Order: sequence, then C-alpha cells, then structure tokens
Amino acid sequence: MEKGPAMTAFSLEPAQLAWCAELRTLAAERLRPLAGKGEPGRVNRALLAELGGLGLLGRLFSSGALDLCLMRESLAHGCTEAETALALQGLGAHPVHAHGTGSQRARWLPRVADGTAVAAFALSEPGAGSDAAALALRAEGDGPGHWRLTGRKCWISNAPEADFYTVFARTAPGAGARGVTAFLVPADRPGLTGTGLDMLSPHPIGALDFDAVPVTADDVLGEVDRGFRVAMGTLNLFRPSVGAFAVGMARAALDATLAHTAGRDAFGGKLRDLQTVAHTVAEMALRTEAARLMVYAAATAYDTGAPDVPQRAAMAKLLATETAQYVVDSAVQLHGAGALQRGHLLEHLYREVRAPRIYEGASEVQRGIIAKELYAAHQEAR
Ligand SMILES: Cc1cc2nc3c(=O)[nH]c(=O)nc-3n(C[C@H](O)[C@H](O)[C@H](O)COP(=O)(O)OP(=O)(O)OC[C@H]3O[C@@H](n4cnc5c(N)ncnc54)[C@H](O)[C@@H]3O)c2cc1C
Repeated sequence: MEKGPAMTAFSLEPAQLAWCAELRTLAAERLRPLAGKGEPGRVNRALLAELGGLGLLGRLFSSGALDLCLMRESLAHGCTEAETALALQGLGAHPVHAHGTGSQRARWLPRVADGTAVAAFALSEPGAGSDAAALALRAEGDGPGHWRLTGRKCWISNAPEADFYTVFARTAPGAGARGVTAFLVPADRPGLTGTGLDMLSPHPIGALDFDAVPVTADDVLGEVDRGFRVAMGTLNLFRPSVGAFAVGMARAALDATLAHTAGRDAFGGKLRDLQTVAHTVAEMALRTEAARLMVYAAATAYDTGAPDVPQRAAMAKLLATETAQYVVDSAVQLHGAGALQRGHLLEHLYREVRAPRIYEGASEVQRGIIAKELYAAHQEAR
C-alpha cells in the first residue's frame, strides 16, 4: 500500500526518527553547554552560530512545517535555549522568506541561516496583544514610497538585540486588519531604540520605540495594507511548532519523572510502586502522546495545503501547550522539593512552560479560532 501524508502524521519514517534522536543528542551534548555559557535574557550569538554551523537554521527555509516541528520538539528535549533561538530566527525571518523581494532575501536570509544576523517578529504593542488588528504603530507618508514609523512595540522576543525586525505598522488609519503593512526594519535605522524586559520566560525579550523611523517601498514585505496576512500566514506555520516545543518539554519532564520515580526510595519500596504515582505518570504520557500526534497532524496539513490549517494549527497549539503545563507541573509534584531548586531541569521547564500559553495567540484566542472555523464549515455545509 502506498504511504500517504495522512499515515505519516501518525508514524514517523525511520529516517525521521533517527534524525530526531540525533537532534536530541546534539541538544544535550553540544548545545546545552553553549546555552549554559549564555547570559540570561541576552541573545546568545555563539549558540546561534552553532545552530547555523549544524545546518539547522538553514533548514528553517528549505523544509516544511513537519521538519520544523521535529526540530523544535527534539531540541526542546535537551536544550530549550537552542530551541527558542532557532524558532525566533524562523519567526522573524519567515516573512522575508515568504514575501521578501530578491534583494531583501539575498541580504538577510544567508545571514539568518548561518546565525550571524538575529531576526525578530514585532507585532504586539502595549495596547494590542490578542487583538493584533488594533495595532497603532503609525506609518505616516513622507513622500511617495516613503513613510516614518512612530510608536511602540513590546514583548518582542530577541529585542532590542536583533539585527532586523519584521515590523507591522498601520498605513491606513481606522481600517483594522486591512490597513496594516509589514516592513523589514534593520536595527540601525535612525530613531529606533529598545530596552530589555525582565520576564519569567528565560529567553531575550524587549520593547522597541520608533521615533519617526524612515522606511521606504524597498522595505515593504508583501503589499502595502496587506501586512496582516503576512502576520497570520506566519502564525499558521509557527503555531503547530509552538505545540512541538511544548511536546519536547513535556517529554523531557516525563523522562525525568520516570527516572526519578523508578529510583527514589519511599515506604519500603520505590515511588513508582505507589499506584497514584504510576497512574499520574501514565496520564502524563497519555496526554503528551495525544498532543504529539495532533502537532504532527497539523504540520502535515500545512505541508499538504489542506483547507483546515487554521483550525488544526490552533488545536495543536492549544492542546500541546496546555498539556505541557500539566505534565511539567505533575513532574515537579512527583519530584518533590528537589525540582524547585534553582538550576534543576524542572525548575527551568516550570519557568519555560508558562509563556507559550499566552504568546502567538493565548489559549482562549485559539478556542475562538476553532469555534469560528467550525461555524464557518457548518454554515457552508447547509
Ligand atoms: C515570552 C513572550 C514572548 C513574546 N514574544 C513576542 C514576539 O516575539 N513578537 C510579538 O509580536 N509578540 C510577542 N509576545 C506578545 C504576545 O504575542 C502577547 O502577549 C499575546 O498576543 C497576548 O497579548 P497580551 O499579553 O496583550 O494579552 P491580552 O490581549 O490583554 O489578553 C490577556 C488575556 O485575556 C484573555 N483574552 C484575550 N483575548 C481573548 C479572547 N478573544 N477571548 C477570550 N479571552 C481572551 C486571555 O486570557 C489573555 O491571556 C510575547 C509574549 C511573551 C509572554
């Protein structure tokens, strides 16, 4: 029987499984030590250069959503810092890859792929998070094909240290999602400044201030007033992969819990001998596996151009991030006090696992997308 895409969503090919195992080893043995040398909250350029040298950043643009998910899941298992550094290069540079002109692509993508140029995706603002279409950063006309950007972006991962930003700005006041344009803004443009933010999430993140920053038609990504599509298209690709990041963390927490409960003496036996402990471990594995399958199915839907990508991407992100929160929390519980000690894997994962339920669309926003798609399909079927 010929193997179609629907089947590959349920079982990976042997070559894919081998690649994932190789990535997990790389993460634990080569990337983890480099991540450990980085400064908290700062871009780790040595780590990025290694990801580039290994050819992983290049794969962001040469392969599909399923490969992206496999990379994120496998790297997250052993080194969340490497996982996030890779993902942020993809998020910031995907609009350039998908919508950039020849010269924009030639200038930036090779440097993104070798890890020498740091990318960032700047959509959120103090007054426009979930309701991204309400964004207010002004792009005011300054002669034909020229604009000045004025306003603020916040919670931008890799800011203010990135080398360029995909910035979503309002070119048509009052037009909602239809009046937004995506611009590629190099970090050295006059009037662009930024500050770091100290967040619970361990990766670099900051705010950007735009004081009449000049941009031209050469900096536009895609079409003027059509930038919201650029943003949503990027999120449709990256949402399942946020789920993959979550699955990688859940699997790391599960593995640590299996090792701990099998070895820890308690009440004349091991922790695993207590039925409530064993059943919790089973529940952690059950939910992680369900999330993993849903992530692969959403990525496969993206790669095959299925019509239900927004719904599947939302479902995968929602289920996987909520599951990872449950699994990491349960892992902490089953480890006891040691897990809360600064530097313990689970103390780290406990901080990492929270933010993905908020960024790239909070869980409630994903439910909104799923319901909207369901009712649209229902209407169509009538
Ligand atoms: C670690 C981290 C990294 C980030 N990186 C980036 C980045 O690189 N680029 C970028 O542009 N942004 C980034 N963000 C911002 C992120 O996308 C926003 O935080 C997110 O969109 C939510 O916006 P908000 O925080 O303003 O919350 P709000 O929009 O104010 O929402 C607050 C809460 O209200 C509820 N809510 C909101 N909308 C609905 C709804 N429709 N239905 C029901 N309930 C709802 C939810 O519980 C939600 O969590 C990052 C955020 C974090 C925490």
